[in-house]
Amino acid sequence: MSRTMDCREAQNCITPFIAGTLSDADLEAYLAHLDTCPSCLEDLSVHYTVELGLKLLSENDPDAEENLPHAFDQALARARRHLARRHRLRYIRAALVIGGLVLAAAGLVWYAVSSGLLVL
Ligand SMILES: [Zn+2]
Repeated sequence: MSRTMDCREAQNCITPFIAGTLSDADLEAYLAHLDTCPSCLEDLSVHYTVELGLKLLSENDPDAEENLPHAFDQALARARRHLARRHRLRYIRAALVIGGLVLAAAGLVWYAVSSGLLVL
C-alpha cells in the first residue's frame, strides 16, 4: 500500500519530479496526492511548464510553442505508465518466485516418493 503525502512533502517533490529523480515509492505517493489535491497539481503544472518553456527557449526549438501545452499532461501520463510497468514487473517477479517454490516442493515430494522415503 502506498503511503500518503501532505502538501508540504508534495512541494518538495516538484523539482525531483521534473528532474525524473523521484524514487518509485515517492513517485507513487506524489501522484496519489496530486489526484486528490488540485492545488499541488496546479503548482506542479506551473513549475513544469515554466521550466520546460525555458529549456525549449534556450534550445531554440521551433516546435516548442506547439509542444508546450501538452507537455505537462504527457509527463504525468509517462510517470503513471512508469509506475504501472513497475507494478506489473513486481507481480511477475512474485509469480515466478511462487512458481519456483511450487516446483521445488513438487521436486522434493517426487524425490521422497521415488527414493522410498515417503509412501503415499
Ligand atoms: Zn497538496
